[in-house]
Amino acid sequence: MEAAFLCTDELWSQGFGETHPLKPERLKRTYELLKAYHAFDTPDSHLVEPRPVSREELLLFHTAEYVDAVASLSDGLSLSKGRGEGRVQARRYNFRPDETPVFPGMYETAGLKVGAALTGARLIAEGQVQVAFSFAGGMHHARPALASGFCIFNDAAVVIHWLLRQGLRVAYVDIDVHHGDGVQAAFYDTDQVLTISLHQAGILFYPGTGFPEEIGTGAGYGYSINVPFLPYTDDELYLLTFRQVVPPLVRQFAPDVLVTQLGVDTHYRDPLALLMLTTQGYVAVVEELKALADGIGRWLALGGGGYAVDVVPRAWTLAYGLMSGQTFPDELPPAYGERYGPGWLHDTAGPEPADAWVIEDTRKYVEKGIAALRAQTQDVWRWE
Ligand SMILES: [Zn+2]
Repeated sequence: MEAAFLCTDELWSQGFGETHPLKPERLKRTYELLKAYHAFDTPDSHLVEPRPVSREELLLFHTAEYVDAVASLSDGLSLSKGRGEGRVQARRYNFRPDETPVFPGMYETAGLKVGAALTGARLIAEGQVQVAFSFAGGMHHARPALASGFCIFNDAAVVIHWLLRQGLRVAYVDIDVHHGDGVQAAFYDTDQVLTISLHQAGILFYPGTGFPEEIGTGAGYGYSINVPFLPYTDDELYLLTFRQVVPPLVRQFAPDVLVTQLGVDTHYRDPLALLMLTTQGYVAVVEELKALADGIGRWLALGGGGYAVDVVPRAWTLAYGLMSGQTFPDELPPAYGERYGPGWLHDTAGPEPADAWVIEDTRKYVEKGIAALRAQTQDVWRWE
């Protein structure tokens, strides 16, 4: 496959800052690691600079009122106005200092992530590449008129709307540890987009949704699929479950484009969540997605969460290696190792083994979830 990697340092030059979990450093290091592996020096792998997004493109998903509010908060005008007006406006759109804080230039930075997804989608739609990785995107929680969960503009929802306008049906697979609630809600009533989200169950866990009962409505009934996992779910159970649900449903749906959100906060060392995947498990899942994408011929991959800064660059480098048909030596290249410490591309350790009763609980929970999915969708999907 011809692959494009959407990147510019403007994606990480501004952000929530280094004390926020979504550190710009994650993106910078990923690019540096790929560069150190000479990942863009082969003819089938293209480093592509994303173009900015237009206001009209944002309006494919977001409301005009919200887009204008983000613009005015971004340039600081509203915040500097008297009587706390800016703070009131920020709160109205769910910008909160403890979660999704306002920062100067956020319109441009958040917008560029959408521009990157659209740049990739256009290259794919025109047949110039078969796969594009917009690693700075995957902002799956943002709503039409609300910021949410570190997400300001929802690049996934915007780009899927754009793809639908090109007459292309989309299967969206979200492997971030958090439920892809914003994308699910955007396409809840249509059968033109199949959304599948696998995540840590929303029991005392953000965003609190993503249960098998959320199945879609009207024409969209059966086209929203949710697979929640309990804490301590490991590589083995995750993969087994993924294979039971994702390939059979995506193949039956037969989309024109596969869009994936490749958050890596499922990792056992992630500070925000409690799933116990390793890079080996993550790679096995991305391999499954690649096999599906090979059959479809068009794959737009987006980044997502992942808050362990030494894990994210390795996981996304491995993912891009699969997309662009490259295998990198497992020892981290000296140019990267000298800066961040030597090490290996794959994990060399794993999580502490969980107690037998915990493993049994995680397994039973998944079985119950899949049984519920099957029961509700037997008129929509053939389950093997
Ligand atoms: Zn996440």
